[in-house]
Amino acid sequence: MERFWRFETSAVHAGYDPDPHVRSVAMPIYQTAAFAFDDAQHSADLFDGKVDGFIYSRLGNPTVRSLEQRVATLEQGVGALAMASGQAAVAATFMTIAGVGDNIVAASSLYGTTYGLLAYTLPQYGIEAKFFDYRDHDRCEQLIDGNTKAVFCESIANPSGHVADIAGLAEIAHRHGLPLIVDNTIATPYLCRPFEHGADISVHSMTKYMGGHGATLGGVVVDSGQFPWAKSADKFPKLTQADVSAHGKVFTEVYGEAAFIGRCSEVQLRTLGAILSPMSANMIALGIETLAVRMDRICFNAEIIGRFLLEHPAVQWVSYPALENHPDHERAQRYMGGRTSGVLSFGVKGGREAGAKLQDALTLIRRSTNIGDCKTLVCHPASTTHRKLSAEDLKKSGVSEELVRLSVGIEHIEDLLTDLDQALHQCAV
Ligand code: PLP
Repeated sequence: MERFWRFETSAVHAGYDPDPHVRSVAMPIYQTAAFAFDDAQHSADLFDGKVDGFIYSRLGNPTVRSLEQRVATLEQGVGALAMASGQAAVAATFMTIAGVGDNIVAASSLYGTTYGLLAYTLPQYGIEAKFFDYRDHDRCEQLIDGNTKAVFCESIANPSGHVADIAGLAEIAHRHGLPLIVDNTIATPYLCRPFEHGADISVHSMTKYMGGHGATLGGVVVDSGQFPWAKSADKFPKLTQADVSAHGKVFTEVYGEAAFIGRCSEVQLRTLGAILSPMSANMIALGIETLAVRMDRICFNAEIIGRFLLEHPAVQWVSYPALENHPDHERAQRYMGGRTSGVLSFGVKGGREAGAKLQDALTLIRRSTNIGDCKTLVCHPASTTHRKLSAEDLKKSGVSEELVRLSVGIEHIEDLLTDLDQALHQCAV
């Protein structure tokens, strides 16, 4: 039944039916660490996977399961696994298939902490990363070697706004028997469904647009079920050979098409423990119910703000892929129907000082490093997140001194324009 629902309907209903006894219309919060067994046979059957049910909330929880099913439906995957944060989901994804001596080939346009995970943290555990410019597909292919386990990109990169050519990268990855993993946080499945373009795994920070309220951290990994792990059995022994960390289980045999998400759950989540709490899962699931209407409003507001800034005398440049002047505009049309969510950056005339001044002069728009909230947020990286970097290092990280990032929310557009206009007048040089 569910599979025939349109996106907006699935966002509200998928993953939860009122249970026959209590009939709660809202998704219940099973805030419990553990679940009771009927008897010894029942517990044996649960542990053997012979009956469906729950044992302990680190292994699975009904509220979290409902959220996972909702996201899997929206992203059109065979399974999803919710985790404590987007970062936990990204890390678990790489660790599910890569180990000592392996590498990930990644577009360098990435969220800073993901870049750090790949460049500095995972190498401490023997997993290396090799980076390519997101537009340089030849370089991407050259970097792939016998130990590469995946190609990785963000569909819309944070904060650069670069739009990945998902189909092009999927083709390269598949030519080498590798999966394409896409971080779809900024686009969300409402604007972009990476599996329709050939991606194999998607990951999200649900802290952002999925939850939409900025009140809860959470992450999710989604498995398309499309990647033929068993065909490249030698390349993916963690999925295709007996796994000591899962009592000798061969994931492709036990889980079939859902082998990836099966191992991610049984090994990464179970043993590393970065679970999403039932309370947080419920808050994110509630947020997802309004994803489509929020995103419509966010894209509407962001495009008007982008055009307003383009014309403003105090503004040097505007970068928003939905606008015609953006180098990725054509990709934005192909992959996102021309609408590119709420992250927009622009440069104010006057460099670092003017950027900081603008941020301080805003009265409605809140100063914060977060994105994806209903509230419009502003961040001037050169005076906040990137303040320790020199002008040259800022340039290397793709962040210029004057860059101001907006995460556009759902307020009335006139109030946002009024606030931006008065702040721009104060910092005009
Ligand atoms: N991926 C992207 C694209 C992000 O923007 C972020 C956070 O901003 C993350 C992953 C990490 O998410 P979280 O903060 O929920 O750990």
